[in-house]
Amino acid sequence: EFAKMIKREVAEVIKSLFLLGEMVTINQDIDFDTATLVGNEFGVDVQPLPPEEDPTEIPEIEDDPAEQVVRPPVVTVMGHVDHGKTSLLDAIRKTHVTAREAGGITQHIGAYTVTTGGKKITFLDTPGHEAFTAMRARGAQCTDISVLVVAADDGVMPQTVEAINHSKAAGVPIIVAINKMDKPAANPEHVKQQLSEMELIPEDWGGDTIMVPVSAHSHQGIDDLLEMILLVAEVKELKANPKLPAHGTIVEAKLDKGRGPVATVLVQRGTLTIGDYIIAGTAHGRVRALINDRGEKVRKAGPSTPVEVLGLNEVPQAGDILDAADEKIARGVAEKRIAKAKAEQQKAAKVSLDDIFSRIKEGELKELNIVVKADVQGSVEALCASLVKIQNEEVKVTVVHSGVGAINESDVMLASAANALIIGFNVRPDANARKIAESEKVDIRPYRVIYDAINDVEAAIKGMLAPKF
Ligand code: GDP
Repeated sequence: EFAKMIKREVAEVIKSLFLLGEMVTINQDIDFDTATLVGNEFGVDVQPLPPEEDPTEIPEIEDDPAEQVVRPPVVTVMGHVDHGKTSLLDAIRKTHVTAREAGGITQHIGAYTVTTGGKKITFLDTPGHEAFTAMRARGAQCTDISVLVVAADDGVMPQTVEAINHSKAAGVPIIVAINKMDKPAANPEHVKQQLSEMELIPEDWGGDTIMVPVSAHSHQGIDDLLEMILLVAEVKELKANPKLPAHGTIVEAKLDKGRGPVATVLVQRGTLTIGDYIIAGTAHGRVRALINDRGEKVRKAGPSTPVEVLGLNEVPQAGDILDAADEKIARGVAEKRIAKAKAEQQKAAKVSLDDIFSRIKEGELKELNIVVKADVQGSVEALCASLVKIQNEEVKVTVVHSGVGAINESDVMLASAANALIIGFNVRPDANARKIAESEKVDIRPYRVIYDAINDVEAAIKGMLAPKF
């Protein structure tokens, strides 16, 4: 493309790049600085194009700060497995959604709002940082505060560390809920000690991390926890303009036999109203009905409100951004998104073949190819994102293939061809895959904790690193 722009032969440009020390193929992208250098070689002045409107995005609408009003905080509960995330979410819902509001029943729609002292807090009801990371990987940032649940009788565990790192990476403040305080073996001081070693220093030790002892069973400390959440929210001055067209994130989505595609959206800005035309990922349609977290039909939903939406033409993915827009614009954008996804798929296939080829050619380059399979898309994305980050100058980590589901024959064959190892998260090879892996000598590594997988790869890389002198 660059050669065409400067009216030169591709071979000339590649040669020039080689002379500049850039070993590239025709399919490779070059950055702006490189293009400038090559341009200079040919006496061409290279200028950046003016930023274009992205045809796969709904055009931005001006947001007048004067129209912004305070909105409830959105909270994600994270922590090690069995430390009580689900129990805590249940306890909060039970104690703070009154029978009058609920008609005794709360609906599971992936998020819910509670009221305490006249103020609202919205909880994302999918505990765990995998979902959180999957959303972030798609560019969705909907959590304002994360509550880190640590069992007082168990202390800091690997997923506690993961949760801390994920929150920190997202710049989301952490409030620690030291849970299971009702247990005789509860040792909150030990938990504080361990967290201090991770730079989460409790307030009563002179630090700035709020730590609240709670029990999801006895409901001890739950009001305190909610109060602290509101306190942190107040400091953050969370605001949004309810007058704009709705903008939010898909929290959950499924195909319902009777109702068609059903998606829970967390409205983040603006107000979603029945009759709005909406787009989420490549799904679009007119809002037919809105159902709140108590199973009631509502006409509209404002900022920080989770609501079930009916009317999309297909099931969007969790983490997709939802926008209300003019129907014609939304349809156009959906088409562009579908085309872009197709193009990216094709490009990805080409790149991995190129990689295999270049690996053979480069010879001296050490490289670790990986196939990633996991039980849910969120974990696939979390793993891939972390794995790629491991790469450094001496070793290339490439995820040659990733997907949801059991490790199958085709994964093994691909891994064999790419000389890749297979990482399975919460999935195992089927019988056929196992047999072929044996004969092809493909290494399949199953994991139950993402952190362990990352750690192992890091270790492998360290073993492979050439010694430094
Ligand atoms: P999650 O995996 O983090 O969602 O943890 P769960 O909420 O499923 O809880 C794991 C186990 O710990 C369950 O058996 C709960 O009954 C128990 N549990 C959770 N919170 C408490 C608590 O405050 N006190 C006691 N004694 N047990 C708890």
